[in-house]
Amino acid sequence: MSERGLLIVLSGPSGVGKGTVRKALFSQPDINLHYSVSVTTRKPREGEVDGVDYFFKTREEFEQMIRENKLLEWAEYVGNYYGTPIDYVEKTLQEGKDVFLEIEVQGALQVRKVFPEGLFIFLAPPSLSELEKRIIARGTESEELIQNRLKAAKEELEMMDAYDYVVENDKVELACERIKAIVIAEHCRRERV
Ligand code: 5GP
Repeated sequence: MSERGLLIVLSGPSGVGKGTVRKALFSQPDINLHYSVSVTTRKPREGEVDGVDYFFKTREEFEQMIRENKLLEWAEYVGNYYGTPIDYVEKTLQEGKDVFLEIEVQGALQVRKVFPEGLFIFLAPPSLSELEKRIIARGTESEELIQNRLKAAKEELEMMDAYDYVVENDKVELACERIKAIVIAEHCRRERV
């Protein structure tokens, strides 16, 4: 039996619905995942809570975390920093618990280098036009930011072959079931007695 927990990385373009799928997944009773809360310099959106959705930091604080090697990975995405605190990931994996990261593609590729044994899942939109619709419909940002997110999303879609699995997010419940099946199968594959 493997003792360390499984590191699960869910990635994919902005607007594909990673957050919604993650929440659906975390409400499932039969898999016990531990969400790694990221650090960001982005301003909180309405309803977002510090320490729950993100740890909100200034650029200076974030850059200090980089210098002090406190981040497993980090990326600058559409003008803000995002990163994964390393301590929580290491501690939780050592306790034999599964850790779940929801991050963009550049960061996922960095994690792959440190944790090649991780489980890397790419959440894909049904089509590029559907993704464009979802990003525009979210409407929380200026036109310029929407255009930047669309550009980043197109670049991110080109990276899907670097992942272990590609899951289409046509319907949240279906995507969630597929990810759950992958996690269960991965445990069965690794935990041979
Ligand atoms: P948002 O601003 O919409 O919350 O997130 C923008 C993008 O940053 C999303 O694709 C999200 O998955 C990604 N992201 C969130 N946390 C992290 C992180 O810790 N590291 C990296 N590399 N990306 C992150």
